[in-house]
Amino acid sequence: MRKKLFIPGPIDVSPEILQAMATPMIGHRMKEYAILHKGVKEKLKKLLFTDGRVFLSTSSAFGVMEGAVRNLVGTRCANFCNGAFSDKWHDVTRRCGKEADAIKVEWGQPITPELVDRTLATGRYDSLTVIHNESSTGVMSPLPELAEVFRRYPDVVSIVDTVSSMSALKIPIDELGIDCCIFGVQKAFALPPGLAVFTANERALERAKGMEGRGYYFDFLEFATNDDKDNTPSTPNISAIYALDCQLDRIFTEGLEPRWERHRRMAGMVREWVAGQGFGFLPDEPYRSLTLTCATNARNLDLAKLKGMLGEKGYAFDDGYGKLKGKTFRIPHMGDMQPEGIREFLDCLEGCMAAL
Ligand SMILES: *Cc1c(COP(=O)(O)O)cnc(C)c1O
Repeated sequence: MRKKLFIPGPIDVSPEILQAMATPMIGHRMKEYAILHKGVKEKLKKLLFTDGRVFLSTSSAFGVMEGAVRNLVGTRCANFCNGAFSDKWHDVTRRCGKEADAIKVEWGQPITPELVDRTLATGRYDSLTVIHNESSTGVMSPLPELAEVFRRYPDVVSIVDTVSSMSALKIPIDELGIDCCIFGVQKAFALPPGLAVFTANERALERAKGMEGRGYYFDFLEFATNDDKDNTPSTPNISAIYALDCQLDRIFTEGLEPRWERHRRMAGMVREWVAGQGFGFLPDEPYRSLTLTCATNARNLDLAKLKGMLGEKGYAFDDGYGKLKGKTFRIPHMGDMQPEGIREFLDCLEGCMAAL
């Protein structure tokens, strides 16, 4: 039986998107590709509220997360860590041979403007990484407030992961002044995995120019040169780009405001259910993610068993990430999900819990 995906990524992909991926192939140096690429880029600029460069990389998000480190980390990087993905980004930074410090807070806590300010005020760093929405813990750090601090340190290049948040709420890249923003598409975009989008402003590209060891596949300057011709350095996954093009059209057909509102509604429904069922939340109230809810297993349920029962009912369920397995469970509310589908899932979840 095909399971409906209620894990925080990949999530279910609409049939219309799968159909778009079956579009007959074109060559990436043909003008048909440049037209597709340019169209996608223009739509992304609208979505990201940027006039700057937007690049397409057919890799998973971590490809570009590693690439950003290679291109933008010079003397020393501050990796802000508050969960599995941000911890891993620190590890990746070190593996690239860069000097870096993990600025850690407890899992479940946000990265705060005070912490960023205190860290950057040391003058030790020329770059930073931060994850807007830590999917492992369901924490959404306050990006506008963080960005305000970033702007006070213009010599520090900011690299921000919005993998599980971009498109679910307004993230105006230029206004925030984020130097490099990165996201994959299998979470908030509800597309098949294997495609990542990133921005790099002038400051970021200037930094890249002086950087050794950029490699080739993720060399930001190669991306910039090819971007002038609406193209990519190497052969992209063209089917994935057809899918993104189709999804962007669907996003604008729904409308940005209604999309953001739908996410707020779905998050509200799930939070209300979690509280009503007697579970807690890992993050404190103002930092709960808009795209996934991480509940603490306050009722001490056998989550592995629950996962098995839900599997038989046709749902893929998440019983916690990494060291949080069994102690928390996560419910996604993102992408093309609708309140009705979430309600059905919650009803099923509740039924399974009662039968445990
Ligand atoms: C899923 C996820 C990633 C990793 O993405 P990949 O596509 O597996 O490389 C990175 N950051 C966040 C916040 C994520 O949720």
